[in-house]
Amino acid sequence: MKLERIDRLTHLSLKSGLFPYQLDVSVFLADGLLIDAGSGNTEKKIAQWLKNEKLSGLAITHVHEDHTGAAWWVQRHFAVPVYIHKKSIAEANLPSDVPLYRRLVWGNRKAFHPDPIPDFIETENYRFDIYDAPGHHPYHIVLQEKNMGWIFTGDLYVGRKQFVAFKDENISDAIDSLKKILQLDFDTVFCSHSGIQKNGKEKIKAKLQFFEDIRGQVVNLRRKGLAPEEIAKIVFPNWNLWTVVSKGEWSALNIINTI
Ligand SMILES: [Zn+2]
Repeated sequence: MKLERIDRLTHLSLKSGLFPYQLDVSVFLADGLLIDAGSGNTEKKIAQWLKNEKLSGLAITHVHEDHTGAAWWVQRHFAVPVYIHKKSIAEANLPSDVPLYRRLVWGNRKAFHPDPIPDFIETENYRFDIYDAPGHHPYHIVLQEKNMGWIFTGDLYVGRKQFVAFKDENISDAIDSLKKILQLDFDTVFCSHSGIQKNGKEKIKAKLQFFEDIRGQVVNLRRKGLAPEEIAKIVFPNWNLWTVVSKGEWSALNIINTI
């Protein structure tokens, strides 16, 4: 568990799960607005930290269980508004029921009862503009704090490269969303897994370039008449642990198919 502070923002970074099924998760408390709520497996640590903080609301980038873990607790303990994309409200109202490997890493989350996220959220000192940014998930949003040059990207960025995609992902949509957010003013990316990324615009550009290179290769191979499975083997020749562990929920084929 690591805390880092910039201006009126606190970044809490945690490990979720047990080795070797362990991944980083980040949540941000920006002038009273909590952005994302970690995983079910980190819920108790998040609650311990938040007990001493003042909260005015919770904004969730998307409904996956590693962004919504402490949402029910926040709602019960603080009685503040909890926001998510309107098309994910029905899913949030039910507890998650994820496969074993995801339970080991992230854990299930309890049901919570969010409101549709508005176009912007104002805190005492900040204003967050909300933009749709599908790709990683169809109902994924990003938040921009223009004056600070900040953008909160949920799982749209995660890293410069990506070798497997989750079953909810659509890489063509992700390419469009990356292009769209590059039109906004920002220099720091706040990622829900890789944390605070300085030179954020360069990093988002690098990710877009990576996807566009992959798309170029896929289109070429498809023109030659290759099937998606054959294309996946050529473009991503390396064996991937997550594809095996997740029984195909994460795969290179998901990247190829959605291009
Ligand atoms: Zn996600």
